[in-house]
Amino acid sequence: MNKKEIQRARNETRGCEYVTHFNNAGSSLMAAPVADYLYEFLKEEEMRGGYETAASRSMELENFYVRVAELINAKPKEIAFVENATRAWDMIFYSIPLKAGDQIITVRSEYGSNVIAYLHRAKQTGAELVILENNDDGEPDTNQLRKLVNKKTKLISMSHIPTGGGLVNPANEIGAIANEYGVPYLLDACQSVGQMSIDVEDIGCDFLSATGRKFLRGPRGTGFLYVKEDWIERLEPPLIDQFAASLLDEKTYLLRRDARKFENWERYFAGQAAFGRAIEYAMDFGLPKIQQRIFKMADKLREGLQEIPRLEVTDQGRLKCGIVTFRHEAMDAATIKSELARRKVNVSVSSGSGSRLSFMERGIEAVVRASIHYYNSEEELEHFLSKIRQLVE
Ligand SMILES: *Cc1c(COP(=O)(O)O)cnc(C)c1O
Repeated sequence: MNKKEIQRARNETRGCEYVTHFNNAGSSLMAAPVADYLYEFLKEEEMRGGYETAASRSMELENFYVRVAELINAKPKEIAFVENATRAWDMIFYSIPLKAGDQIITVRSEYGSNVIAYLHRAKQTGAELVILENNDDGEPDTNQLRKLVNKKTKLISMSHIPTGGGLVNPANEIGAIANEYGVPYLLDACQSVGQMSIDVEDIGCDFLSATGRKFLRGPRGTGFLYVKEDWIERLEPPLIDQFAASLLDEKTYLLRRDARKFENWERYFAGQAAFGRAIEYAMDFGLPKIQQRIFKMADKLREGLQEIPRLEVTDQGRLKCGIVTFRHEAMDAATIKSELARRKVNVSVSSGSGSRLSFMERGIEAVVRASIHYYNSEEELEHFLSKIRQLVE
């Protein structure tokens, strides 16, 4: 991104005037045109009625599917609107038939909610969870994956970018192996969509889930699911209502034939339309440019942090994304976060279930997570580093 584009991004991000927002992996600041669009939609619901607004803006609601499809190189019929990434992911994961002895392969850095769901279904079905360990770079060992896959493997499932660090998992390499062995591949792209170019054909995934509020800068309470065309009719969602299916008589219901069979009827209509708008906004800058800017800024931040004594940058992997994590010997992560908040700098703390399996192995309790977006400036990076130095020196 050039100076002009960055200036435009900052001008159109009203929150930049108030705060240094390095919590984009939590929830980004919405862009003004997207936020204004959302408020207008809600205002119309207030003034004219919810059903009436949905009817008059039906094309804008449809636009959501077209935009998501464009963003990830899919077809609109392969996209479902779901209220968050976790439920989108669940709708697919709980659709996949599993029985005793079957295996699910995931990675060490897997997201906590997903691990809980694997264990939940393992308990229900007798299937087994297998963890692919990391190589010396801290990335899933793809050579090992070839040895783990066998006839019992019913799913390979992984977070593209884990929530608690800069690691970018090798989604394409894993996809190539999954395809070679004919194993379905579910990618949790919650942290990667919006900060990287994502192409489901290149990746080779069968299913992909993501959220609105993180790097796509959409409203909270929005998410989407991608289901590859040939899977749509082969899977029965774990929950269905009269939107997902129609009732024909006392014995028969007919499921929809597009990915919207994974949706439910009532939803955040304004959010869905504004999420579509947010994707348009991102694509207007262009995802390759966005990615380049974010990754470069994050590398710069890591370099600065590494110069601070007794501070350890905890990001793994060769390629590192916009999530920068660190800990300090003398000051715990929660204190750093609250001290920064008093100075109008937003970061978050990664601890607990989100990164449990990875943190346990590495002996980490908690880290500070500073996540950069393209609208953050070089001045904000400097400001951030000087605040950290003041705090810990
Ligand atoms: C945030 C996150 C999720 C959950 O997204 P929600 O929209 O909060 O459900 C899932 N996976 C990863 C890797 C995440 O970082």
